[in-house]
Amino acid sequence: MTMTDYYTLGDPVADTKAPDGPIETRWERRRFGAKLVNPANKRKLTVIVVGTGLAGGSAAATLGELGYQVKSYCYQDSPRRAHSIAAQGGINAAKNYRNDGDSVHRLFYDTVKGGDFRSRESNVHRLAQISVQIIDQCVAQGVPFAREYGGLLDTRSFGGAQVSRTFYARGQTGQQLLLGAYQALERQIAAGTVTMHDRHEMLELIIVDGRARGIVVRDLVTGEISTEFADAVVLASGGYGNVFFLSTNAKGCNVTASWRAHRKGALFANPCYTQIHPTCIPVSGDHQSKLTLMSESLRNDGRVWVPKAKGDNRVPADIPEDERDYYLERIYPAFGNLVPRDIASRAAKNVCDEGRGVGPGGLGVYLDFAAAIGRLGRDAVEAKYGNLFEMYQRITGEDPYTTPMRIYPAVHYTMGGLWVDYDLQSTIPGLFVIGEANFSDHGANRLGASALMQGLADGYFVLPNTIGDYLAAGPFPKLDAENAEVAEARKLVEDRIEKLLAINGDRTVDSFHRELGRIMWEYCGMERTDAGLRKAISEIRELKAEFWQRAKVPGDGEGLNQSLERAGRVADFFELAELMCIDALHREESCGGHFRAESQTEEGEAQRDDDTFSYVAAWEFGGDTPVLHKEDLTFEYVHPSQRSYK
Ligand SMILES: Cc1cc2nc3c(=O)[nH]c(=O)nc-3n(C[C@H](O)[C@H](O)[C@H](O)COP(=O)(O)OP(=O)(O)OC[C@H]3O[C@@H](n4cnc5c(N)ncnc54)[C@H](O)[C@@H]3O)c2cc1C
Repeated sequence: MTMTDYYTLGDPVADTKAPDGPIETRWERRRFGAKLVNPANKRKLTVIVVGTGLAGGSAAATLGELGYQVKSYCYQDSPRRAHSIAAQGGINAAKNYRNDGDSVHRLFYDTVKGGDFRSRESNVHRLAQISVQIIDQCVAQGVPFAREYGGLLDTRSFGGAQVSRTFYARGQTGQQLLLGAYQALERQIAAGTVTMHDRHEMLELIIVDGRARGIVVRDLVTGEISTEFADAVVLASGGYGNVFFLSTNAKGCNVTASWRAHRKGALFANPCYTQIHPTCIPVSGDHQSKLTLMSESLRNDGRVWVPKAKGDNRVPADIPEDERDYYLERIYPAFGNLVPRDIASRAAKNVCDEGRGVGPGGLGVYLDFAAAIGRLGRDAVEAKYGNLFEMYQRITGEDPYTTPMRIYPAVHYTMGGLWVDYDLQSTIPGLFVIGEANFSDHGANRLGASALMQGLADGYFVLPNTIGDYLAAGPFPKLDAENAEVAEARKLVEDRIEKLLAINGDRTVDSFHRELGRIMWEYCGMERTDAGLRKAISEIRELKAEFWQRAKVPGDGEGLNQSLERAGRVADFFELAELMCIDALHREESCGGHFRAESQTEEGEAQRDDDTFSYVAAWEFGGDTPVLHKEDLTFEYVHPSQRSYK
């Protein structure tokens, strides 16, 4: 098949909201240029927020505080069980408390470079500016960031940076930040500005007269389907790494909310940009349904190595220093163990491919704390990483204080997501997308500790400022269930549930998901090739057809039915997986986490092709043949160069 059999080319797409001119004042000028809604009118406007993670929780709380009527949704039994609670290592901010040369400009620079020059300068600069406010906001809420002896907030280093700008709360930063956002949310719930709907899943977007006006939700406990209306809809529904089945994401993470919006017209940007995190506990067999991250913060003190000799299966303690290869320190002396994730993951894969991997199947490398324990003492290491060490020991039965951890790359984060403009508005008027669900700031590779920063920047600061510009034209006409477009959206949901239940096949939904994940990992994972991606697309299409004939979805739609929930999510993953492979196939360059084997430097690093591919690939839904809209990227401040961490 030729490339045009897989997709067609549409008109370019442009971000019309980002101001030009000096980058330092773009955000200020956009805020000043945006229309305001007066306080009395805010009370008349309703906003739906899907998701209660760091992005959605902070957005709903802030919109409530501003005086809007907010309806908040999540599928968990409590907003504070959102996947954000799992975030371990920290959150970046250009505070320069360490006086080590950090600045807004340096964070901006590191992030654009870290993303391999595939993100927008305006967005990233705004993110770096806001990072400073986030820490103040969270401290004011009482988030217990780690402090130094003197009482100042402590920081540590993360990959892709030579400064120490990551604020943290041991290995539980996400949990503490989410508790801060959750308390702010609860306050608004008590004040009556936010109504909370947990155990509710959004299954369709309602568009009336070209505007996003609501959602169709299923009560996951009673099975009841309802239509919910608003003047604007915000998706904060997280990332889609679970398309790979095995990932470090919470088991429930899925793409359904974004995918339903995509099917209704929202462009999906850079779906193939997936982050494979270098330090995860290796897969231990076919029984697993989830992988566990060992935070990147561990690379502050842990040294990564493999034996120099192939097939050396001595226990690590028996391998003398001069027979070890600290390959990151060797290949990248300037950044050492703290190279960005895409680089560290590929390097781990390379040494394992050479036959120097450790542990079962040779798919592992060591992360060794012996030197840190010798230098700092066990107590100091325990104070910094104790809960991570304990987690590792519980899962593997090995004690990382006395023997090195074994780690291997695993799917962790998705840089792709729904396309949004500078205001975080999608291509559907009135549909805003924030947090991991959008594509906006990380280009082809996210730097560690930048997701929490982005989620909170979006939720506490960006969206609350930009959504008013849209809502100033509201309130929009009242809606009810009789409206033809509303009824049609509801029917779509009912028909789909009926269709899933009617398959009545002989194969579990999980087995389909596991097989889909295997195809994706094999052909659209750490290394991608033209032939592999074509094969993946055809295998996914066959498996998808089989799913709709053979999936077994027991029970009915009248009450709690987790098989039905999973079936709907896996059905959407199939369609997404196809788009991811088409995106990866069309992007014949390597960049960041997207490594095309055909496009590498002599030293095996990602080789970009800026002349041809310096654009955001924003895809319009088109069934088997999606339509590609390109948004050109321009760089005025950080000039694209071959990334070097040497
Ligand atoms: C193990 C792990 C550790 C990490 N550590 C860090 C770190 O240290 N630093 C960092 O910066 N990043 C880290 N990340 C990344 C970061 O945690 C996530 O990117 C971020 O938390 C995503 O936040 P979010 O608010 O966008 O989405 P989420 O926290 O995933 O929240 C999604 C919300 O949407 C709701 N939802 C989804 N779909 C629907 C639907 N259809 N209907 C109703 N509700 C729906 C869910 O119920 C949930 O409330 C880590 C990721 C993992 C996996």
